[in-house]
Amino acid sequence: MKSLLPGATLGVMGGGQLGRMFVHAAQRMGYFTAVLDPDENSPAGRVSHHHVRADYLDELGLAQLSGHAEAITTEFENVPAGAMARLAEHRPVAPGAKAVAIAQDRTEEKAHFTRCGVRCAPYAAITSEEDIARAGDDLLPGILKTSRLGYDGKGQARVATRAELRAAWQNLGRTDCVLEKMLPLAFECSVVVARGRDGAMVHLPVQRNLHRNGILAVTEVHEQCIAPAQAQQAVAATRAIAQGLDYVGVLCVEFFGLEDGSLVVNEMAPRPHNSGHWSIEGADVSQFELQVRTLAGLPLVQPRQHSPAIMLNLLGDLWFREAGRELTPDWAGVLALPGTHLHLYGKLSARPGRKMGHLTVTGPSLEAVRATALQAAQCLG
Ligand code: ADP
Ligand code: MG
Repeated sequence: MKSLLPGATLGVMGGGQLGRMFVHAAQRMGYFTAVLDPDENSPAGRVSHHHVRADYLDELGLAQLSGHAEAITTEFENVPAGAMARLAEHRPVAPGAKAVAIAQDRTEEKAHFTRCGVRCAPYAAITSEEDIARAGDDLLPGILKTSRLGYDGKGQARVATRAELRAAWQNLGRTDCVLEKMLPLAFECSVVVARGRDGAMVHLPVQRNLHRNGILAVTEVHEQCIAPAQAQQAVAATRAIAQGLDYVGVLCVEFFGLEDGSLVVNEMAPRPHNSGHWSIEGADVSQFELQVRTLAGLPLVQPRQHSPAIMLNLLGDLWFREAGRELTPDWAGVLALPGTHLHLYGKLSARPGRKMGHLTVTGPSLEAVRATALQAAQCLG
């Protein structure tokens, strides 16, 4: 495929915050954009040149999107793989339907990791009562996760006994699941890689992630956030996983660092990732610009981090700190701090647990960034 130069129109399936930041990156570089999302108020749809309001499998909608856009990507992993395949009949699509289908299914995803020689948590597929009876004792206590459609800790249950496992599977609607052994986590980290059609790969530095209630809360990226040997291992594993998929686009792989110093892979997302948002201000090429470059077939250059960075997720809970009353967080207070970069996604209503925005802090030193992030967190309550 010939490169699509600025002036061309790039399309994205899904209109959430990741699509919005893709649209912003593309527009900054002089591209036109088209978004397909059924919601007229979707964060990306509202800032895109074209917004096709249609369901993801709507034939007319898909035809409209490929009418506008000369190449198409996705911003959420649960886009029906069939829709990506349909679009690919008319336009270059990245990532491909096959990679998206694997990333959508935890069982297939784990099989892919194993094929690539990357270790994941011990697990068993749970699709029947017999699977529950057969699952090894060594998998308990464990976490039962739906194979498909889980995110931000949803579709998961922690189980200590086989009786709890049985009850949890009932609660999850007896849908296909995986039971994963509960691992002693020392830390969590992730790596964002971008791979072009020619197989060239570049990556962002390893990101250290803190989750609360199954949702990403804080990401830190600096030289001390992970030991160099573990960082190298995480990057090598991520590259092997992307290579094994013959992946084109931006891929994020999440890892668990265990107490014994070993690293196991958790899951992957076939798109930019919440843990990579810091790169908009903390690196000279962001994960969204990488997505634009891979989609348009532009050269990939290794991003350079030019500042330590801490990213704080802004969840809807911030609007509900006082019982019975919705209040706007103190944005002016946060913006009075040097090195803060506020991102709000334009969602019309806040709800607890909903990702409303994020705040990235950059600065001249890790100490300065830490101090500012702490002040910002206090300011937000
Ligand atoms: P999601 O798709 O919701 O992000 P994850 O599989 O990443 O689901 O799980 C969410 C969080 O739950 C992880 O970031 C981690 O903190 C915790 N977790 C998941 N699996 C395990 C495990 N096997 N052992 C210990 N903690 C886990
Ligand atoms: Mg996760």
